[in-house]
Amino acid sequence: NRKIILDSRPQGMPEPRNFAFQEEPATAPAAGEVLVKTLYVSVDPYMRGRMNAGKSYAKPYEVGGVMGGGAVGQVVESAADSFSKGDIVSGGWGWQTLAVVGAASLRPIDRELAPISTALGVLGMTGLTAYFGLLAIGDPQPGETVVVSGAGGAVGMIVAQLAKIKGARVVGISGSELKNSYLKQELGVDAVVNYKTDELEEALEAACPDGVDVYFDNVGGEISDAVLRRINKNARIPICGQISLYNLKQSDQGPRVQSILLTNTALMKGFLVGDYAKDSPQALKELAGWLQEGKLKHAENIIEGFERIPEAFLGLFSGDNLGKQLVKVAEV
Ligand code: NDP
Repeated sequence: NRKIILDSRPQGMPEPRNFAFQEEPATAPAAGEVLVKTLYVSVDPYMRGRMNAGKSYAKPYEVGGVMGGGAVGQVVESAADSFSKGDIVSGGWGWQTLAVVGAASLRPIDRELAPISTALGVLGMTGLTAYFGLLAIGDPQPGETVVVSGAGGAVGMIVAQLAKIKGARVVGISGSELKNSYLKQELGVDAVVNYKTDELEEALEAACPDGVDVYFDNVGGEISDAVLRRINKNARIPICGQISLYNLKQSDQGPRVQSILLTNTALMKGFLVGDYAKDSPQALKELAGWLQEGKLKHAENIIEGFERIPEAFLGLFSGDNLGKQLVKVAEV
C-alpha cells in the first residue's frame, strides 16, 4: 500500500514538500471491514484548512497521518455482509492506494447510473453542496439574478446550472476565459466576469443591471465585497467557501457588511454540506434525475497517477481545474 501523509504544516500556500510518500504492506480486513483498492481520489479546497493546526470547518490532519478525503474504489476482499468482492464503493479513506475501511462508513455506487467518478462530484459532496446551499438558502425564483463566484469550479458549475433549472438569470465569476466560455456556451450562463482581467466593479455593474438577488459565495475576499455592494432588497447569500483567504498568512480585514445586510434586509448564512446528511439521499436522487435528463452537465478535470495527487491539489489554488478535480489512480 502506498500512501501520502502530511509531512509538515504549510505557512501560506502549500508546497509539494509538505507531503511525503510512504509504503507499507496492506493488512487484511477484520469482521465488518473491507479492503478497498482506490480508483479515484478527490482533491478539495477544504483540505487546505485541515492542514492547519487551528480550527477550520473540518478537523485538522495529524502530521504524519494520511491525507484523508473522498475516494472511490473497488472491494478486493470483504469481511462484511453488506459488500462483496468487486463492488464499487465511495468513502473517506483518502490518499492511499489500498485501505481497510469499516463497511458502515461506505456508500455503494451504482455503476449503471453514471460514471463512477461522479460519486465524488455531481453525485457526491460537490453536487450536494451546490444543491443545499443554493436551494435551501439561496432559494432562487424565476427571473431573479443569481451570481456565483468560483463559477468554473466543481461546486460553482453545478450551482450555475441549478439556478438555470430554477429559471433564474445567472452570472458566473471565474478567473479564466476557458471557464467563462464553457459557462456561457455549454451551460447557458447569461453573463460572465473574469476577476483577473476585467475591471471588477464595471464588469459586475454591466452583468447585473437589475442588482443581485442571490450571491453564492465560493471565494470571499474582494470579489465578494464587490458583489455585496450590488445586492437587492431581501437578497440571500449562502456562504459556501472562502478560497481566496485559505492561504493568507495574516487574517484579512474586509469592509464591515452589516449595514449592507441591514439596509437590504438581506440574509447571509454559512453552511456545511454535512449538516444536510439526512436529506442527502433524496437530493442525490434529484441530481441523478437531472443528470439523466440531460439538464445537468458535469465537467471533470482528471489527472492520472497516484504520485500526482499533491500536484492536482495545489492546482486548485491556481485555478487549473475546469469543473471537479479528480485523480485517477487505477482501473476497475
Ligand atoms: P473548485 O473546483 O471551485 O476549485 C477551486 C477554484 O477556486 C479554482 O479552480 C479557482 O478558479 C478558484 N480560486 C482559487 N483561488 C482563488 C482566489 N484567490 N480567488 C478567487 N478564486 C480562486 O473547488 P470546489 O468547487 O470543490 O469548492 C469551491 C468552494 O466551496 C471552496 O471555497 C470550498 O472550500 C467550498 N466548499 C464548501 C463546502 C461546504 O460544505 N460549505 C463543501 C465543498 C466545498 P479560478 O480559475 O476562477 O480562479
